[in-house]
Amino acid sequence: MNTIEDALAAILEGIEPLEPEWAPLADAAGRVAAEDAAAAVDLPPFDRSAMDGYAVRAADTASGAPLRLEGGVAAGEVTSAEVAPGTAATISTGAALPPGADAILQSELAAVADGQVTPERALEPGTHVRVRGEDLRAGDVLVRAGERLTVPRLSALASAGVGEVAVHRRPRLHLAVTGSELLSLGAPPEPGRIHESNGLMVGLLARRAGADVIDQGVVPDDRAATYTAVERGLQGDVLVVSGGVSVGPHDHVKPAFEACGVEEVLWRVEIKPGKPLWFGRKGRTLVFGLPGNPLSSIVCFSVFIEPALRRLQGERDARPAFSRGRLTAPAGPSDDRTTFLTSKIVPGADGVLEATPTERQGSHMTGALGESDGFAVAPHGSGPLAEVRFAPARQTARRRRSTRRAAAPSRGGRSRSRRSGRARR
Ligand code: AMP
Ligand code: MG
Repeated sequence: MNTIEDALAAILEGIEPLEPEWAPLADAAGRVAAEDAAAAVDLPPFDRSAMDGYAVRAADTASGAPLRLEGGVAAGEVTSAEVAPGTAATISTGAALPPGADAILQSELAAVADGQVTPERALEPGTHVRVRGEDLRAGDVLVRAGERLTVPRLSALASAGVGEVAVHRRPRLHLAVTGSELLSLGAPPEPGRIHESNGLMVGLLARRAGADVIDQGVVPDDRAATYTAVERGLQGDVLVVSGGVSVGPHDHVKPAFEACGVEEVLWRVEIKPGKPLWFGRKGRTLVFGLPGNPLSSIVCFSVFIEPALRRLQGERDARPAFSRGRLTAPAGPSDDRTTFLTSKIVPGADGVLEATPTERQGSHMTGALGESDGFAVAPHGSGPLAEVRFAPARQTARRRRSTRRAAAPSRGGRSRSRRSGRARR
């Protein structure tokens, strides 16, 4: 049987990030940059006032010496009228400095009367002036290829005049849920049948992990139907088939994979729940056979499928990130497999996460998911645990410098300047 590490390595091996595409900033959130993204403009783009007040020549300012008020400039305007010696122009916060001015006299330090403004004291040149380019220069790289586009980074790109960024396209994930016993969500109960939940769960998790999901719905335990679903699903970047990967007379999934030319990479992992996981490839399509049990499915998805989806989207180190914490009661692996224990997880008084395994454990205890926040992970051979790792509850961005450049995405005929500025020579 494969260890978790070996299985993960075999799955991630050779996965290349999907080709880049241009995405508007709002659609790029949480995705990975496929190219460096650089500022398109200087920031600030022009010398601008940091205060409401008066644009002046610093050399003309002295305590109690009035300046004649001439003209003004509001945010969004520009003026070519020079601030002549001995004069001042009204200016609002964010407005471009008029020619001749080199300092801002803030309103609070000025007395205005009879068309004149009198400073309380002399100003240094540059007072309350935000100088062009003091924050960023056009061409400065803000996000490197391989880095995740977080909301703060997207905000910086927006400020720097960028409208679109190159990201790896989303993986298309085909999902087929097998089982003749499965009732659709909320359907009236029927004898001998159970409500399906895996399709819902895997679909939601896959979308959260950035995939476009093509849901084929429930497929009966039937040879021909399974074959058709697999064949269709192989058009995607990833095919996930839930259930039917065991060796029972009604398990048609492995024969269907074989008949469709999917090459087996691994079957069975030392993980509890989730042992019957199957993984193979056909060409560039990654094919997962998930154990039908919902607990097995959520564990296998988090540990194996989500990393594969993240790798396809360009994340360099896509292995699952675990949080550390402590147990509130003794627990440990229940056999020689690494055991994932459904647990309530809340921060303790000192802020460290504390896990309390739910009373019900076992892959058939799907209701226990309802009272759990995640999984305490008990590595095989670890004995009773005092300290635990938690299964990934959220996507964590890891920043890595890119060593390779991704292929340039197609431009679609639009100008580059709207996206990101060229790097400075
Ligand atoms: P299988 O992997 O098909 O042998 O299924 C293992 C167990 O999980 C069986 O008890 C199935 O009834 C159950 N199961 C399979 N698929 C689902 C599903 N989509 N939702 C809920 N339970 C399922
Ligand atoms: Mg089944």
